[in-house]
Amino acid sequence: MTLISLVKSENSKLETAKVDVGQADRKRIYLFDRDPHLTDLSQKLRSLGYEVAAGPGGGGEKCLAAVIHEKADPELELAASLIADHKVIVLCENRSFDFRIKAARLGVSALVQLPVDLIELEGWFSDFDRSQQIESKVLIVDDDDIVAEAYAFALQQKGMRTETLSNPLKTGQMVDDFCPDLIVMDLDMPEANGLDVAKALRLSRPHLSLPILFLSAEQDEGIQHEARQIGGDDFITKPVDLATLTNMISIRVSRARELRKIMERDSLTGLLNHVNFKERLAAEVGRSQRTGASVAVCLLDLDHFKAVNDTYGHQVGDRVIQMFANCLTGSLRSVDVIARYGGEEFGLILLDATPEQAARVLDGIRRSFSNFFFENGNGPQTVTFSGGVCGLQDAATAEGLLGAADRALYEAKQQGRNRIILHSQME
Ligand code: GH3
Ligand code: MG
Ligand code: MG
Repeated sequence: MTLISLVKSENSKLETAKVDVGQADRKRIYLFDRDPHLTDLSQKLRSLGYEVAAGPGGGGEKCLAAVIHEKADPELELAASLIADHKVIVLCENRSFDFRIKAARLGVSALVQLPVDLIELEGWFSDFDRSQQIESKVLIVDDDDIVAEAYAFALQQKGMRTETLSNPLKTGQMVDDFCPDLIVMDLDMPEANGLDVAKALRLSRPHLSLPILFLSAEQDEGIQHEARQIGGDDFITKPVDLATLTNMISIRVSRARELRKIMERDSLTGLLNHVNFKERLAAEVGRSQRTGASVAVCLLDLDHFKAVNDTYGHQVGDRVIQMFANCLTGSLRSVDVIARYGGEEFGLILLDATPEQAARVLDGIRRSFSNFFFENGNGPQTVTFSGGVCGLQDAATAEGLLGAADRALYEAKQQGRNRIILHSQME
């Protein structure tokens, strides 16, 4: 059953939203096959603003994803040749688990069932786009500066961002500021023992699942056991070969990211969930207050959404929610935080942006989104949204900011919906 097909009208290009556009490869897709089905897909992708090419040219250009029809590559040989340099999506009718295992072994990033669901495909594209933009971050805590710098250098060579700390007592602050994906922690340090530092971190909910890799010169099994009990991901005995260490770290960082995605994300949209949005907001408010950087908080709510469900059914409603989530991820910068705050309500944290700048960006998205339409057999339908925006001048705490954004959102609804209201401009 095809519920809806999505079309985006020609004049709906986002002019204002992205700050870091300009990298053409963010929108380039390689599509393999001249199958009539894919010609149709290629047209739809073009109408959504993607540049679709038949395959890599000689210039070594990057692309967001290489999309391959199973029939064009039944043995996945083409997929295998592209995997080193590209994210590969295979479109398939073959649902056998053997095929999935083969694809997984090769390193295929996604299997999408035919006929293609464009919302699902765009969901993968925005996932890839975000993960390409976000570097892995590793914090190294070791009282021996030279050792710490050697680890940091090896990790940087692998494209990771690093921070080093020789004083373990500063770990808490550094974790809040740097938000590492993983910590490499020495055990024996004069100011504090690595195990105690890890225990102290685990007292805060947001740090419960932060992977910690312990390094120690001794092979005491009792200490190793204790390290594992407090959620130390692993225990390595010094001296350690740098190549082994960087390999272990990159595997653990990708696994931690995947797990975090499952724990923190809403299953319908893949966006951050309510609880994690609030935790992230508290962290960003604290950071902005320390650094003096601006931050804008926005709450968005789809207009008259009950009527969409009542008229077209809940499944169509779900698809519109997914479409809106894709629109937000595709329009905002990778540093911005996007969450599903509640049913048809979304929360955003725009970093280093004033509420006025955020309102302008959102207004661009609002205009663009009102040009999206879905068809369900009764002709094209559109959906709009309203938004409330505030910043640190409106409130000083995460709770206060959410209250202010909510009041501005309420005002936008009162004034007739399909508009963005700044809290500071309310009477
Ligand atoms: P308003 O413009 O004032 O926001 O009107 P509204 O109809 O959007 O607001 P209301 O709060 O009355 O209704 C929200 C609707 O959103 C009702 C609920 O069924 C629907 N909704 C919430 N979560 C989901 C979801 O996950 N999927 C679908 N399909 N609908 C949802
Ligand atoms: Mg609503
Ligand atoms: Mg609502």
